[in-house]
This record gives sequence, structure tokens and C-alpha cells, in this order.
Amino acid sequence: MRNFEFVNAPTTERAIELLGPQAKLIAGGTDLLDELKEGLIAPERLVNLKANRALKYLRFSPSEGLRLGALTTLSELETDRTVREHYPMLAAAVRVIASPQIRNMATVGGNLCQRPRCWYYRNDALHCTRKGGPICYAVSGENQYHAILGGHLCFIVHPSDLAPALMAYDARISYAGPGGRKTLPLGEFFVGPAVNITRENLLQPNEVVEEISLPTPAAGTRGVYLKVRDRNTWDFATLSVAAVLEMDGATCRRARIVLGAVAPVPWPAPDADKVLTGARITPEVARRAADAALRGARPMSHNAHKVPLAKNLVRRAILKAAGVSP
Ligand SMILES: Cc1cc2nc3c(=O)[nH]c(=O)nc-3n(C[C@H](O)[C@H](O)[C@H](O)COP(=O)(O)OP(=O)(O)OC[C@H]3O[C@@H](n4cnc5c(N)ncnc54)[C@H](O)[C@@H]3O)c2cc1C
Ligand code: SF4
Repeated sequence: MRNFEFVNAPTTERAIELLGPQAKLIAGGTDLLDELKEGLIAPERLVNLKANRALKYLRFSPSEGLRLGALTTLSELETDRTVREHYPMLAAAVRVIASPQIRNMATVGGNLCQRPRCWYYRNDALHCTRKGGPICYAVSGENQYHAILGGHLCFIVHPSDLAPALMAYDARISYAGPGGRKTLPLGEFFVGPAVNITRENLLQPNEVVEEISLPTPAAGTRGVYLKVRDRNTWDFATLSVAAVLEMDGATCRRARIVLGAVAPVPWPAPDADKVLTGARITPEVARRAADAALRGARPMSHNAHKVPLAKNLVRRAILKAAGVSP
């Protein structure tokens, strides 16, 4: 391993000064240290964001909603009473991430910025397209966990469980760099390989995620997070779905369905939202919404099973959120 310097950044401004192409930001380190040990990165400098206590907060008020500093840990999110009360689906999504030990260390900012789990990407001997190389090994290789939507020269799936849950609650992200602070809907932060094949989001090497904010859910909002994984603990999603329905009796006033582990970005399903909005939720409506969510899916050689699996998961999540038996 190459020697590197480890520098504390007590403010965002200092982190921005210290960052650059040869430096990496470290928060909980649960992904970054793996990348370092696996030989995937060899920075000259690690910039320690945890020295910045101002980024560690979780605040809720009914008028402003929820504000999460980037250094909030996943355990803090999972156990917070206001999160459980007002955003129960978010707490449920966090509860199925990794293990309690990892959730104690892992931060919200780090979870959203974690790198892909594609096994070819994680192999330091392979120089695939995402690392600037000539080919995607997944195309003719072992691609059972890869993308069925939105792939283009690279077919990773976005590994975060937090991202679909936050997006379904209409989260916004704020990040800062030399040009100032930007705030945008979280869904716009993630970029697929057609936009940038080497990165999964808009961040430049000298930009820092500072905050995630969520509006207070309207009365009648119900959320469900379902995750399929090979092992029932300590495993990334094979598929996941976050469903938030604003219900008025049996009728859905507004819907937000976001899928995880189907595409290189957390995948919103606006066509499914349209089917649900204004509809009385029945098993037939849920089935139509699930078909709409997976419209355009193009499985690879070993993952055709993900299409019916995802449809079933979306259908089940909608019915569960609406309180309708299948
Ligand atoms: C065994 C195992 C199982 C896992 N299972 C799951 C799972 O089921 N679901 C899931 O969602 N995740 C899972 N993870 C991933 C885990 O949740 C992430 O590693 C963790 O959330 C990253 O947070 P961190 O604070 O440790 O980030 P770090 O490791 O410190 O950083 C990760 C990346 O984000 C960047 N970064 C960190 N903070 C910021 C910031 N504020 N601004 C800009 N960039 C930043 C770093 O530079 C780095 O590139 C698993 C990890 C392991 C090791
Ligand atoms: S899916 Fe992406 S990360 Fe995986 S081998 Fe192909 S190009 Fe590399």
C-alpha cells in the first residue's frame, strides 16, 4: 500500500482546500478503507471529515421536516424516535443495511457516495470500463446481480439501500465545493454511465456532501421498504423497493416508487406513480403499476429472473403500503 498522509478537516472549507485528484475524503471508512486495502485506490492524502462535528446532526420540526448532517450514522437514523415516527420506512430501510457494527460506523454521506460492488470492479487486477479500461467484464461474464435497467457500457447496480428510501420521501441533497453550495433533489445527484462512466454522482473530487433534507410527510402517508437478498443478514440487495403512498381512505393521492439494485442509479418509477395517483388501490392496480415500473427492462445473460422478482416486489410493496391484502 502506498504511504498517505491523514489530515483532519474541522470545517467543510478546510476539507475543500485539502481535497483534489490525489486526495480522498474519509467518513466512517467502511467502504473507503476496503477500496484502499483492495488496491482500487492509492491516494496521497486522506481527508478526515469526522473531525467536522458541525456535520453530525439530526433535527426534525413539523414545519421544516428532517435535516440530516452528512456525518449522521446509520445507527443514529435507525434508532431516532422522530425518524421512526415520521419516516418509518426510512428506519426500516436502514435496519436491513449491513450489520449493527457497520451501521455504527457508516455515515449517511458515505452510504450515498459508496462505490459499486460489481465483483469485476472490486478486483484490482481487472481494468474494466468504469476504471477507464476497454471492456465491461460483466457483459459476457457473471452478471446475475447486475443492471436490468439504465445500463450503458457499464452495468453496475447502485448499492445503497438508503438512497431509494430517501428519494421516495422526496429528499434533497446539499453539497459544497470551491464554487459554493448546491442543493438539488437527491435523484438528480446520481448519474448513470451514459453521463459519467467513472462516477456514480455529480460530485467533483473537491466537493463535500453536507446535508440531506426531507419534507414532513403529508397526513395519510404510508411507506414500505422491501429488500431481497441472498442471505437474510449482512448482505447487499439483490433487489429492493421503496414505496411511499399518500392515502385518502382506499384512494392514493400521490405515490413515489423507487427501486434499488436494478440500475446504475437508484431508479425512480414515475410511470408506476402515475398509475397509482388518483386510483383506488387494488391488486390489479398494483400489478399494472409494477408492470409500468419495469417497462423497458433489458436483462443480461444471467439475470432475467430479476424482472419478475422486481415486479412482484413492487406489487407487494404497494399493497402493503395501502393496507390491501394480495
Ligand atoms: C459487509 C458490508 C455489507 C454492506 N451492506 C450494505 C447494505 O446492505 N446496504 C447498503 O446500503 N450498504 C451496505 N454496505 C455499505 C455501507 O453502508 C457503506 O460502506 C457505508 O454506508 C459508507 O459510509 P462511510 O461513512 O463508512 O463511508 P466511507 O467509507 O468513509 O466513504 C465512502 C465513499 O464516500 C465518500 N464520502 C464519504 N462521505 C462523504 C461526504 N460527506 N461527501 C462526499 N463524499 C463522501 C468517500 O470519499 C468514499 O468514496 C455494506 C458494507 C459492508 C462492508
Ligand atoms: S459492470 Fe461496470 S464496474 Fe462492472 S465490470 Fe462492467 S464496467 Fe466494470
